[in-house]
Amino acid sequence: MAVEPVVVWFRRDLRVSDHVALHRACSLGVPILPVFVFDPAILQSKDMGVRRLAFLLSCLESLDANLQSLGSRLIIRNGHPEKVLRDLAKEVGAKRIFWNRDVEPYSRQRDEKVMEMAKAEGISAESFDDLLIHPPGSIEKGAGGPYTVFTPFSRAWLAKPPHDPLPRPKSIPATLPVKTLPIPSTEDLGLGKCEIPLPPGGEKAAQELLRAFAAKNLRRYDSIRNFPHDNATSRLSPHLRFGTISPRTVLATARRVRAEDPDSKKQVDVFVSELIWRDFYKQILWEFPHVATGCFRREYDRVEWENDPAKFQAWCEGRTGFPIVDAAMCQLNQTGWMHNRLRMIVASFLTKDLLVSWQWGERYFMQKLLDGDLAANNGGWQWAAGTGTDAQPYFRIFNPVSQAEKFDAEGKFIAQYVPEAESLSSPAPIVDHATQRVRALAMYKKAKG
Ligand SMILES: Cc1cc2nc3c(=O)[nH]c(=O)nc-3n(C[C@H](O)[C@H](O)[C@H](O)COP(=O)(O)OP(=O)(O)OC[C@H]3O[C@@H](n4cnc5c(N)ncnc54)[C@H](O)[C@@H]3O)c2cc1C
Repeated sequence: MAVEPVVVWFRRDLRVSDHVALHRACSLGVPILPVFVFDPAILQSKDMGVRRLAFLLSCLESLDANLQSLGSRLIIRNGHPEKVLRDLAKEVGAKRIFWNRDVEPYSRQRDEKVMEMAKAEGISAESFDDLLIHPPGSIEKGAGGPYTVFTPFSRAWLAKPPHDPLPRPKSIPATLPVKTLPIPSTEDLGLGKCEIPLPPGGEKAAQELLRAFAAKNLRRYDSIRNFPHDNATSRLSPHLRFGTISPRTVLATARRVRAEDPDSKKQVDVFVSELIWRDFYKQILWEFPHVATGCFRREYDRVEWENDPAKFQAWCEGRTGFPIVDAAMCQLNQTGWMHNRLRMIVASFLTKDLLVSWQWGERYFMQKLLDGDLAANNGGWQWAAGTGTDAQPYFRIFNPVSQAEKFDAEGKFIAQYVPEAESLSSPAPIVDHATQRVRALAMYKKAKG
């Protein structure tokens, strides 16, 4: 049996349970070297946000503690992954590097470089499907090719049996002592201090959230999920973003609740469809990487957005004079999370009331969200702007006043974040919705030609 250690490269899968690459490495019975690499290209990217980085650091602390409890530990390095992994493999005499695949264009390029390095160095590099419930490319139309519409994708997805989560390893064969850097702070990494309180990161926190959600709100999810004040959704998104819990584990829990409590079936099915949206947008990014830099429907790249910086700033700061929009933006600015209904409302408002490009909003969200994820964020923004795959048509425009009446009828959510909305001290609306609606329609129509 080979005794050379295997390097397991952790990226956005910061857990030990149901981790495909780690599980495969453990099955070899050789020493394992778990490593996380701080990549300067990611740290310096325009989408980087200090909050998400701070959350990631807390997840790394927890991953290290979990690895230590299994007899191993996390090695931290800085630098370009292909160089860091080459040096580390040489240092410990590793001949294999394992990791779980990602769908983002940058990650794919980076992994390609690692593959090339490995080939040149005589190392075997193996990547695994782990990020999704059904991997990209595994759900295709009958005649072949990817789905671009959610409903048929979801039907095909549901027809395919999911894999059960893999068991948590009982122990992880340790490797020789190797130097590691301490887990840095956000300041050490050049991003300054995180200015908001964060929810706890790590695998245990994710499992606790899932347990609490399964015990209560999952069973009435469809009835209450659209009302921001009820705080009824799982709040698992930052954890699914960093892989402190696997989507297969979340699905298995939902299926168990559904089986145990037949009255909950309809409610649970709606929750499962949110997990399908997650898979859907990731397979869209995988199959159509151009969405990362432009509209899925390329004709909409011609839209002549007004892009007024003052209006954009008012939107960012929650000063539009539309209470539901302002309260939603305050929730984002103060907590790093925003309810899904509100994400749809503010995205529609930015693009169709303020006539500002969805890409400006997409970037702002990436800078502020703890769950900021290229595929889901891009999919959500293109859906709201009407430029995406399964987008709502551009002529369907949310009215921010009636949305508030429907989903925050008693104004409880607004009162929480914009208490002055009740009084005369709140700002006057910065645009007239009816006028802007007509202008937005003309703007889109012109682009369509
Ligand atoms: C403009 C816009 C931007 C968005 N940006 C992001 C983002 O950057 N990161 C992100 O994870 N989600 C994003 N979403 C999707 C959705 O709003 C969040 O996933 C959800 O609000 C997270 O809260 P939760 O975990 O309580 O969700 P729950 O309702 O409990 O759903 C469970 C999980 O399903 C997934 N999910 C739910 N809804 C969607 C969806 N519409 N698309 C893809 N996955 C979904 C998430 O992983 C979520 O954690 C965006 C939506 C819109 C409209």
